[in-house]
Amino acid sequence: MAEIERETMEYDVVIVGAGPAGLSAAIRLKQLDSDLEVVVLEKGSEVGAHILSGAVLDPCGLDALIPDWKEKGAPLNVPVKEDNFYMLGEAGGIRVPNFPMPPLMNNHGNYIVSMGNVCRWMAEQAEELGVEIFPGMSCSELVYGDKGEVKGVVAGVFGLEEDGSYGPNTEPGMELHGKYVFLGEGVRGSLSKEVIAKYDLGAGKDVQKYGVGMKEIWEIDPAKHKEGTVTHTMGWPLNSNAGGGSFIYHLDNNQVYVGFVVHLNYKNPHLYPYMEFQRFKHHPMVADLLKGGKRVAYGARAITEGGYQSMPKLVAPGVALLGCSAGMVNVPRIKGNHNAMLSGKAAAEAAYAAIKADRSGDELPDYEAVVRDGAIGKDLKMVRNVKPMWSKWGLMASLMLGGLDMWTNNILGLSLFGTLKHGKNDAEATEEASKHKKIDYPKPDGVLSFDRLTNVSFAATNHEESQPCHLRLADPSLPIATNLPKFDEPAQRYCPAGVYEVVEKDGKPEFVINFQNCVHCKTCDIKDPSQNITWTTPQGGDGPNYPNM
Ligand SMILES: Cc1cc2nc3c(=O)[nH]c(=O)nc-3n(C[C@H](O)[C@H](O)[C@H](O)COP(=O)(O)OP(=O)(O)OC[C@H]3O[C@@H](n4cnc5c(N)ncnc54)[C@H](O)[C@@H]3O)c2cc1C
Repeated sequence: MAEIERETMEYDVVIVGAGPAGLSAAIRLKQLDSDLEVVVLEKGSEVGAHILSGAVLDPCGLDALIPDWKEKGAPLNVPVKEDNFYMLGEAGGIRVPNFPMPPLMNNHGNYIVSMGNVCRWMAEQAEELGVEIFPGMSCSELVYGDKGEVKGVVAGVFGLEEDGSYGPNTEPGMELHGKYVFLGEGVRGSLSKEVIAKYDLGAGKDVQKYGVGMKEIWEIDPAKHKEGTVTHTMGWPLNSNAGGGSFIYHLDNNQVYVGFVVHLNYKNPHLYPYMEFQRFKHHPMVADLLKGGKRVAYGARAITEGGYQSMPKLVAPGVALLGCSAGMVNVPRIKGNHNAMLSGKAAAEAAYAAIKADRSGDELPDYEAVVRDGAIGKDLKMVRNVKPMWSKWGLMASLMLGGLDMWTNNILGLSLFGTLKHGKNDAEATEEASKHKKIDYPKPDGVLSFDRLTNVSFAATNHEESQPCHLRLADPSLPIATNLPKFDEPAQRYCPAGVYEVVEKDGKPEFVINFQNCVHCKTCDIKDPSQNITWTTPQGGDGPNYPNM
């Protein structure tokens, strides 16, 4: 094939991803020096289109970045007024009082927000400062320099033929080069995965852990709506089968975010995270709240859960991992947006100092130091044992021991347990189907619970059908030859968007990938027990179109 010719554009810093991490970095760079050339590339059709969080936002990241965010009209309009935590059984629940909770779990001072809208607002702030933001531009490849450093990305490849080759309508995209490249792709970023592997950034660190988070927006009866109320639950419908829990956040305009996270280290391949979420809404406490209301949006996204001990090295020549590209979620708080913002700010400050010193294409050790030794490291270190305790000893033990551990860390700055390890990665945690019972899930009623494909239509996801499938199988025969007999092909169930099916054709099972349904959650890339699926970027602008997730 003839060499592909691409136009090249030169910048000081190239940023992949217009999430809170990438946008914070862009804003901070321009605050420090308005002459710096900064570009942000986003695969969503607009900024915010692919953003999915709970979200209760701890404003500490925004305070550090834009102290006058209130005057500037940031969409943080719903302060948390009430914070509830319930342990659920099938028919009822016990409210856990707030006083035994360590102070870090307190949500007072935080805001219920649409992170999509927060990102849209941050993008406006960035553009006012002169940042160039290109939505609808997937970064599909990294560009390496002569010394093995990352020197840029390829973005904006459109119109590939179905087999991945170049055709008459293919636009080859362009190369965007930078003195530094920041990857703010969020959880399980495709370029970040390449960088972590190429430079062995996970060496000496624990494995990364994940959950799959699903979320619906409901408009509910105004009489039941309590703006500013935050509720978390644990327990039913999950039992010892899997870890996880729910969140219910009352924002404004009679809207409620209803979400459910299932930890992806579950063993039973028959488990169906999406159906666990649907079943959860039939709990009397939740059903009472939602009855008479309507679901107006649906989405899903993986969430990093490995925390402090799983964070890879953050820098390699020419490149830095920001936010959830490196996994900066505080798991018991289910919060990562504040750390994403703080990491973007720290990376920007390190790159600014390096550029002023005429450096480029090297590592930014100052960024790494600020993250590990500063506010982010402190936030993550205090809670580092909660997830491994949960995986090893189950929910009740982790609540008690994890609570104790957070208190000793909070007050004495030490843990009685040291730093616990996570053990297997989530793919390896999956056991053979023959060892486990099938789970009988009730049929969705179409009122409180919905079948997967109906719900996916509320994610407004869209992929140009003529392009190559962006979900790549290393071995196309493996789903039927290995995964089906061994694991009952769990892709049929772990995908919250119904992308994967096993159908019968001419009396034989066939694996079908409906990539058009993909909501870019990355669960398949994480959970496939054979690690045979790689999520790559489809062409720019494709994917979900979330309104105010
Ligand atoms: C269900 C759920 C609930 C959560 N609840 C909360 C909460 O209540 N509070 C909280 O603080 N945190 C919460 N989190 C965690 C929070 O969402 C993350 O910590 C945060 O999104 C990380 O920000 P980020 O900028 O690193 O990545 P993201 O927010 O994921 O942003 C990454 C951006 O990069 C784009 N992108 C990715 N790859 C490419 C590419 N190759 N080319 C171009 N663009 C690309 C994506 O489209 C996206 O817009 C929750 C997460 C989940 C899944």
